[in-house]
Amino acid sequence: MTASARPDARRNASPYLHGRETAAVARVLEGGQYGHTDVTEEFEWRIADFLGVPEAVAVASGTAALHTALLAAGIGPGHEVIVPSMTFCATVQAILAVGAAPHFVDIDPVTLCVSDHLVMDAVTDRTAAVMPVLFGGRPVDLSAVQEELDERGVAVIEDAAHAFGSRHATRRVGASGALTCFSFGPIKNLTCGQGGMVIPRTPAEADMIRRLRILGVVQSQGERANTTSYRVEGFGLRYQLSAINAAIGLVQLDGFQVAEDTRRHLWRTYRDALAPLDGVTLVDVDVDHAVPHLCQVRVPHRDKVFADLRGRDIGVGVHYPPNHLQPAFAAWQRSLSATERAGGEILSLPFHQHLSETDIDLVVTALEQALKSVGGL
Ligand SMILES: *Cc1c(COP(=O)(O)O)cnc(C)c1O
Repeated sequence: MTASARPDARRNASPYLHGRETAAVARVLEGGQYGHTDVTEEFEWRIADFLGVPEAVAVASGTAALHTALLAAGIGPGHEVIVPSMTFCATVQAILAVGAAPHFVDIDPVTLCVSDHLVMDAVTDRTAAVMPVLFGGRPVDLSAVQEELDERGVAVIEDAAHAFGSRHATRRVGASGALTCFSFGPIKNLTCGQGGMVIPRTPAEADMIRRLRILGVVQSQGERANTTSYRVEGFGLRYQLSAINAAIGLVQLDGFQVAEDTRRHLWRTYRDALAPLDGVTLVDVDVDHAVPHLCQVRVPHRDKVFADLRGRDIGVGVHYPPNHLQPAFAAWQRSLSATERAGGEILSLPFHQHLSETDIDLVVTALEQALKSVGGL
């Protein structure tokens, strides 16, 4: 038995608090208003300002962001939505939630993301939307085929749950003109505890998402105080972002530059430490543009390496088992060779802002030992 790993290397992912979150939450609790309040609205405009977009609409989770974005884009029964199988199951569940059908597509084996030709090869007359997943924080650029997608009436809805802070060439993800969805869940680049944000393309889309997130009720705060009733003008869900969560997000946003720099530094530290290891392929990220969300490698005998590392108390994970092979999505199964191959090789090393360079050395040494012991080197 090797000595058990340092505590931070035991976790694959972990929220990182900048220190003032507890006080910010306490202020909201003492203030007595916990729902969607001016704290939520401050968080919205601060995010819009950070990204350089006119407005941002806060919702209760990344899944709620995807769900309301699909509804706002008019996606529903009879529609097909092109989506990579290599994503978190939430992307697919959001498509099912609006009654549409997922059309699973393969990924580029190097980026683990869709590319413009993989998307265009899958477009049919029933395609109503495409959902690129910005896997690991990598921006996905569909600008070369944007005009063709527009002509065919195909909406682009970005699942940017991994990619808060990443940049396309110059603009932040969210500011490229696509309908963009962020998650601020516990382990994302920025966390609210639980939360999400939609970057709408038009004011009408923003209004629709605002109505959807509050049970279809349309009324300003002022109106609500002054009348005895309220108007339900359409379908809606309980999807607001509470002030408690928004207060956490505001502190996280203040500290985001530190988060961004730390994630890039840790990722480069891994890259340099992994370089001498034979048999290990780092899933590359252009960290000059992307804020890395994961540190993934591809290894032979992945399941054995995974078990061996877990035995050494190293918090490895797999992002993700392909969705087209999940029982719930069997009706839309198809053969996706690059996804299936990646699905059997990818391994996510511990990656979060509590890690030190010593932790990373320990993880890489353990990976080398694991590969030797399973015969992979
Ligand atoms: C986390 C995540 C989501 C869902 O976000 P939640 O805030 O957990 O609802 C969607 N897609 C991807 C790729 C994610 O990683």
